[in-house]
Amino acid sequence: MIEKDEFGPEKILEIYNPKLRLNAILVIDNTALGPGKGGIRMTPSVTKEEVFRLARVMTWKCALAELPFGGGKSGIIASDEEIKDKKRKRELLKVFGKALRGIAPETYIAAPDINTGEEEMRWFVEGNGNLNSATGKPKDLGGLPHELGFTGYGVFHSTLVALEFLGLDLNEAKVAVEGFGNVGSFAAKFLAEKGLKIVAVSDSKGCIYNENGLDVEKLIKIKKESGKVIEYKEGKILPNSAIYGLNVDVLIPAALADVINLGNVNEIKAKLIVEGANIPITSDAEKILNERNVLIVPDFIANAGGVISSYAEYMGFEEKKAFKLIEEKIKKNTKLVLEKASEKNISPREAALEIAKERVRRAMG
Ligand code: NAD
Repeated sequence: MIEKDEFGPEKILEIYNPKLRLNAILVIDNTALGPGKGGIRMTPSVTKEEVFRLARVMTWKCALAELPFGGGKSGIIASDEEIKDKKRKRELLKVFGKALRGIAPETYIAAPDINTGEEEMRWFVEGNGNLNSATGKPKDLGGLPHELGFTGYGVFHSTLVALEFLGLDLNEAKVAVEGFGNVGSFAAKFLAEKGLKIVAVSDSKGCIYNENGLDVEKLIKIKKESGKVIEYKEGKILPNSAIYGLNVDVLIPAALADVINLGNVNEIKAKLIVEGANIPITSDAEKILNERNVLIVPDFIANAGGVISSYAEYMGFEEKKAFKLIEEKIKKNTKLVLEKASEKNISPREAALEIAKERVRRAMG
């Protein structure tokens, strides 16, 4: 059930192409600040409710990052076989792009999400006919692919600001990163370059832990070659679920949703959790962590680097300028939210939501 409220959703579309069997959903949540921005999720199980929830997160994320975008999201329901079949995937993306002519880029701008990346954005804009209908496109189409690590770069800056806020020494801080994909590997890389000690990383196959620190460059190479971080031999191999309870200062969940929950919240030892992934902590677990004074930087602040790079692409900025913009915006917003939360004695998520809602309300007039 989608509950409509003072913000939206403005449009919920079901798109079906009987000839090519495209089954898709588009939710445009709120366009007060600009066209609804959000990725195309391609999974067998994507639902209208899921797309709506993600579109709403985009409304807040864009408002908080002060971008001229609203919130939107789309989903293509496709089987695992279709997702693996490049030809079929291309067909689906093209027909979806075509179906959204007149809607994208006018009131919706697509981007990568689960199972869609820069090539999928190419097919989408080919079908749509307008290069502005998606961001995260390949470089030859004037794009700034998410594969350049923008989101991880934002998570890195958010972590630095939060550490400073807590008065923790960067050179002493021990960090664990759950998930070593696009977001996790870049966050780990930038943090290690700054001198922080990455003591554990995990992926779907397991967790590697060394309290003296891991060599992140080497890990990236090993992950690329073998697909598994546990092939890195200098450390203890643990089940991936062990990462949440390790003795670290900073925990960066950067893979799945709901991984920190009532089942493991009492094991958490970190003083700071920076949400690289979307909704990695359940709301009941978050409440307990807030009571324990564990500082949580919410997803829609910490992982906004991707959408900020989308804006940079939309404006025709170069890569370097995109990284700079991400640094400026993420630093400013993380600080703003943490200070407001502390002043009002509320959680950072509540503070962030207050700011985002106020900006959207103002734009709605
Ligand atoms: P990705 O597919 O590149 O990487 C996901 C990683 O998670 C992989 O290394 C995978 O092995 C790992 N993983 C899967 N199951 C795991 C488990 N049980 N334990 C530990 N690791 C596991 O995905 P990504 O683009 O890095 O996205 C990660 C998260 O960040 C998602 O929640 C996504 O919605 C969010 N996010 C991504 C971006 C972006 O620009 N890529 C932007 C905003 C938010």
